[in-house]
Amino acid sequence: MTTSSPQAAGQRAGMKKELPEHFRSYKHVWVFIEFEHGRIHPVSLELLGEGRKLADKLGVELAGVLLGSGADSLDDATRNCFAYGADVVYRVEHPVLAQYRNQPYTKVMTELVEKFQPEIMLLGATVLGRDLAGSVATTLKTGLTADCTELAIDDERSLAATRPTFGGSLLCTIHTLNYRPQMATVRPRVMAMPRPEEGREGRVVVYTPELEEERIITKVLDFLPDDAAEASGLAFADIVVAGGMGLRSEENIQLVRQLASVLGGDWGGSRPLVQKGWIAADRQIGQTGKTIRPKLYIAAGISGAIQHRVGVEGADMIVAINTDPNAPIFDFAHLGVVSDAVALLPVLTEAFRQRLL
Ligand code: FAD
Repeated sequence: MTTSSPQAAGQRAGMKKELPEHFRSYKHVWVFIEFEHGRIHPVSLELLGEGRKLADKLGVELAGVLLGSGADSLDDATRNCFAYGADVVYRVEHPVLAQYRNQPYTKVMTELVEKFQPEIMLLGATVLGRDLAGSVATTLKTGLTADCTELAIDDERSLAATRPTFGGSLLCTIHTLNYRPQMATVRPRVMAMPRPEEGREGRVVVYTPELEEERIITKVLDFLPDDAAEASGLAFADIVVAGGMGLRSEENIQLVRQLASVLGGDWGGSRPLVQKGWIAADRQIGQTGKTIRPKLYIAAGISGAIQHRVGVEGADMIVAINTDPNAPIFDFAHLGVVSDAVALLPVLTEAFRQRLL
């Protein structure tokens, strides 16, 4: 594995060893489909969109890898994989796979890779995806680039996986030159959601694993949904209002919440607000919080540090309110308002309330 800036292709060429002969047969792009409680995680659909571009560039097939139990829900999920761009679905159905557990999922995924030999495998950087990606990469002894913000194919057909480094102040591009598959995880909302093409069809490859419940050391006794996580649909909201240290006090967070509520959106904040205990950690937006991709993002009293920027720059429209005309957020906001957010937010809330009544 090598680390380089995107411009350092020449330097990298000097480092490149020949891909070992037994890895040359590895072909196609795979996306692990995170499928829990009868539902595909949206990040898997976003990755099918991104995987489609990589597969087209390489001239290979895009596959969704679907593990689970229950024919009806797997049928639905299979149709969705095709609608979102997969040419093939590797489908593995077994009662042991009804709920995610690292041991059987790692076993099945590594068997599939060894049998069908994909050159690239993408997973969502969710709790499940991070857990699985690490153990699959370790078992297969291959390279894994976590939390990528950009994926591309370089001139030598190698996956160029770009991610923030040095606390987000630099981007590095990582290549897995001598091992296969090249693995990467991507957080939800980093990649755009593709438009589904209903009725699109593909090929299903059924794989039957040898799994015995008695040999699995972890048991799922019950499933308790995380109400807090459910409550915050921040990553997928169309409108997000967020506050930063410019709000000056914990009480003023309500100004952000009120505007979000009138607009029918969700709300969040910058990291210092979490560190101060003013907002919950799952409301943090940015590199170490949530990545968002709303149609409208209103940032009130947020400076626009790089770690915040990487979590919001996928928004269609960024409106920044800041007292400092030189604040970095004005470098990437589509609309900037130089103003006191504490004074402006209630005025905006009232104006939208009147208008939307
Ligand atoms: P400040 O930097 O204090 O900025 C406050 C802004 O408000 C200023 O621009 C000021 O001009 C403006 N202002 C002041 N008064 C008003 C007013 N009355 N009205 C309007 N504007 C006003 N940060 C994140 O947000 N998310 C992350 O995920 C994240 N991850 C990080 C990870 C690492 C490893 C590191 C090192 C840092 C991370 N940070 C993250 C922190 C980041 O570097 C910044 O420190 C943080 O984003 C700054 O938050 P802020 O803009 O709210 O506060």
